[in-house]
Amino acid sequence: MSTSLLDPAALRADFAILDEHVNGRPLVYLDSGATSQKPRAVIDAEVAFLTRTNSAVHRGAHTLAAEATELFEDARATVAGFVGAEPEQLVWTSGATTALNLVAYAVGNASLGRGAPASARFALGDGDEIVVTESEHHANLIPWQELAARTGAVLRHIPIHDDGTLDLDAAAAVITERTRILAFPHVSNVLGIVNPVAELVALARRVGALTVMDACQSAPHLPLDLPGLGVDLAAFSGHKMLGPYGIGGLYGRADVLDALPPFLTGGSMITTVTLDAAEYLPAPQKFEAGTQPVSQAIGLAAAVRYLDGIGMDAVHAHEQHIERRMREGLRAIEGVRLLGDPSTGSGQRPSGQVDRVALSAFDVAGVHAHDVGQFLDARGVAVRVGHHCAKPLHARLGLTASVRASASVFTTESDVDVFLEAVSGVRAFFG
Ligand code: PLP
Repeated sequence: MSTSLLDPAALRADFAILDEHVNGRPLVYLDSGATSQKPRAVIDAEVAFLTRTNSAVHRGAHTLAAEATELFEDARATVAGFVGAEPEQLVWTSGATTALNLVAYAVGNASLGRGAPASARFALGDGDEIVVTESEHHANLIPWQELAARTGAVLRHIPIHDDGTLDLDAAAAVITERTRILAFPHVSNVLGIVNPVAELVALARRVGALTVMDACQSAPHLPLDLPGLGVDLAAFSGHKMLGPYGIGGLYGRADVLDALPPFLTGGSMITTVTLDAAEYLPAPQKFEAGTQPVSQAIGLAAAVRYLDGIGMDAVHAHEQHIERRMREGLRAIEGVRLLGDPSTGSGQRPSGQVDRVALSAFDVAGVHAHDVGQFLDARGVAVRVGHHCAKPLHARLGLTASVRASASVFTTESDVDVFLEAVSGVRAFFG
């Protein structure tokens, strides 16, 4: 019997796509980590806006423009509230990648002496250090590599244990007085482990480093209170949290957003402009140059209302239940190696109780991840294969690719059972 606090079978009625058949089999969608499905409420919200209210926000003198502006700013307040923040603390971006690049380029601009005097505190130079983890998605790695190359800073990393948990002893040694930025994932998109944010933030604060958290894989699955977590900046993507493509957010502490210079510049972010210079609006508009993804923001607000309607505690409890079923089932299949699991590697340090989201990456001995993916697809099961934009992490685990199954609010026990049954047939098939 299910111990879930929500009824995924009932929620499925909100996701028409789940009635689809793939290769003659009912779709079992286990690729929410890549992109989530969107409930009818999200699609309806976008369609309603585009059908009845569509207009340019913030500048029109006409009624529709005022209504569009109100809906757009309401959406900001709703999404900011979902992560425990004030509306001014949420900058719209096109997704997490853009949000993280925004921060890296804004810090780069501060390093060039651009921005208000307060931005000098972010300036990087030779010998300063940026610290990331070994488990980053490329979106929270390459922008820092580029920033280091532009400023002369040095990129360092916190290693993981064989079981996927962060090596906090190493973190305490890597984060030093030279560290100016600590970037880390709340949840790795390969390991599914919820990282110890309080410990990481404490290490960064001790040395006055700016903390940048990639919340892509936590925002859809956990109750989030970003100010309460104490991070300075955090990024997330709408399309991974039941929302539309092309919308995401950058949360920032008010003093940090005030002090950071902008990245993109242009229309809609200024107070005055002459041919020689411009003055900028306060955050968040300072970071929102050009026409914004308005209908997408309204769709994302509908998505977080949908999640709030279920309750994020219930979402997390349900997904923990699904995660345990998935992980225990995978562990029991011969030849399957789970990534980010106490059963993985030489057992350098058996992990204690770690919190997880419902995301399991694994390797099947002797069978390439792409073959596993095709085998599952032929049975209607949609999973992700490859390096999941985490090549250094795969290299650390001695792999070039893995298979990843990731769940959502609508994932049922029966989905997991169909998936496990299919995985257990892989090795016999490929002989
Ligand atoms: N960070 C993590 C942990 C992710 O899983 C992803 C998406 O796969 C990203 C960042 C990048 O998100 P987006 O492609 O929506 O910008």
